[in-house]
Amino acid sequence: MESYAAALLYAIPFFVGLVLVEVLYGRLVKNQMHNVMDTVSSLSSGLTNVVKDSLGLGIILISYPFLLEHLALVEIKATWLVWVVAFIALDFAGYWNHRLSHHINFFWNQHVIHHSSEEFNLACALRQPISNLLGYYALLLIPAALFGVPNTVIAVLAPIHLFAQFWYHTRHIGKMGWLEYVIVTPSQHRVHHAINREYIDKNLGQIFCVWDRMFGTFQEELDDVPPQYGVLKPAHTWNPIIINFQHLWRLMQDTWRTKSYWDKLRIWFMPTGWRPADVKEKYPVEIIEDVYHFEKYQPSTSWGLKAYSIFQLVFTTFLMLFMFYNYAEIGFDGLLYFGAFVMVGIFGYTALMDRKGYAIWIEVARGVAGLILIYWTNDWFGLDAFWSYGSYLVALYFLATIMFAVYFTYFEKSFVSPDLVS
Ligand SMILES: [Zn+2]
Ligand SMILES: [Zn+2]
Repeated sequence: MESYAAALLYAIPFFVGLVLVEVLYGRLVKNQMHNVMDTVSSLSSGLTNVVKDSLGLGIILISYPFLLEHLALVEIKATWLVWVVAFIALDFAGYWNHRLSHHINFFWNQHVIHHSSEEFNLACALRQPISNLLGYYALLLIPAALFGVPNTVIAVLAPIHLFAQFWYHTRHIGKMGWLEYVIVTPSQHRVHHAINREYIDKNLGQIFCVWDRMFGTFQEELDDVPPQYGVLKPAHTWNPIIINFQHLWRLMQDTWRTKSYWDKLRIWFMPTGWRPADVKEKYPVEIIEDVYHFEKYQPSTSWGLKAYSIFQLVFTTFLMLFMFYNYAEIGFDGLLYFGAFVMVGIFGYTALMDRKGYAIWIEVARGVAGLILIYWTNDWFGLDAFWSYGSYLVALYFLATIMFAVYFTYFEKSFVSPDLVS
C-alpha cells in the first residue's frame, strides 16, 4: 500500500494537470466540454477512490498469489514474454469484469459511478468506485495464473493498465484510422459512455478492442447518432459517495418490499435494471426514455459557490497529497481518521453544491471536529514537522469551512438570480 501511495503522489498531479490542459484547450477552440460542478464532482470521486484503495478496505475473497500457488502449470521467469502475457491476461480479465459490471444488477452498483457524469471528458475518467468492496478480481486472472505470471508483474502492471484508460475520455479527438482496429480509442469509448439505444453496453474493452470484436459487443461511433452521456436512471447529485451506493440502496429497498421470496433472492443476479413486477408497479423509478431530450442535472448555483467548490477540491487534494506523502509516519489508525476527514469533507462540500439542507450540519460538524483535533494534538497528523505553520493553515481552513457553509446556506441562497444559474 505504501508504494501505491507513493505512486499516487505523482499520478494525481499528472492527471489533474491533463484535465486542466483539456479545460484550457476547450477554451482556446471555443468548444468547452467541462462544466465546473460536474468536473469538481468527478475529481472528488477520484479522491474518494484513492483514499479507499490506499487504505486497503474491502474483503478479498480470493487472492492472486493463492491462485498462482495452486494453478500454475508452467513457471516462467520475468522475461519480456511474461510482461506481454500478463498485460493481455489483465486486459482479458478487465473486459469480462467490465461486462459483468454492466450486465448484473449487483455488480452494476460498483461501476455506475464511472458512468454517472452527463458530460464526457478527462475528468469523468477519474470517476472511480469506492463500492467495490468484494475482491473477486483474481478469479478472472486464472489465465495469468495458469501461465505462472509472478505476482510482482501483476502488481506493477495493474495500475499501469488502469492509468492507460485515462486518455481516451475526451471529445476532442476524432477517429484514429487503423488504430480503431487494435486499441480502444476516444471514439469507441464515447460510444461506451452513451445511453443511445444503438450504443448502450457496447465497447467494453479497456485497452484492446479485439475482445469486443471477438465477443460481439463492438459498436462503431455513427455520424448520425451523436452520443448522449449519463445513465438511464440519473444520479441527480454531485455527491460521489451517494452515487456509489444509490443502485445498491434501490436493490435493498426492492428486496425488502417485494412479496416474492424468489424475487428477493434473484434480483441481485438479474440483468441490470431488472425489478420485481410488484414493486416496479407500486414504486416506479424515473428512467430516461428520450435520450435526446432530458434535463441534465444542474441545481441552481452561483459564481461564488462554484469558486468555493473549486477551493474545497483543491484544499482537499493537497490534504490528501500530504496524507500519501507522510503515509508511513501517520500509522494505520491515523490514516483511518485522516481518510475519514477527507471522505466526510467530500460528502459535505458536494452536499453543499447540491444545495442540500443537511450540508450545513456536516460542514459545521467536521469543521469543529478538525479544530478540536488540532487543538488537542497541537498538530495536523505531523504536518508541523514539515512546515511550522501547517496546522494553523488547516485550522483556518476548518474555520472557513464553517463560515462558508453558513454563508451559502443562509445568506447567498437569496442572491441567486436566474442569470447566474447555469
Ligand atoms: Zn462501463
Ligand atoms: Zn470510461
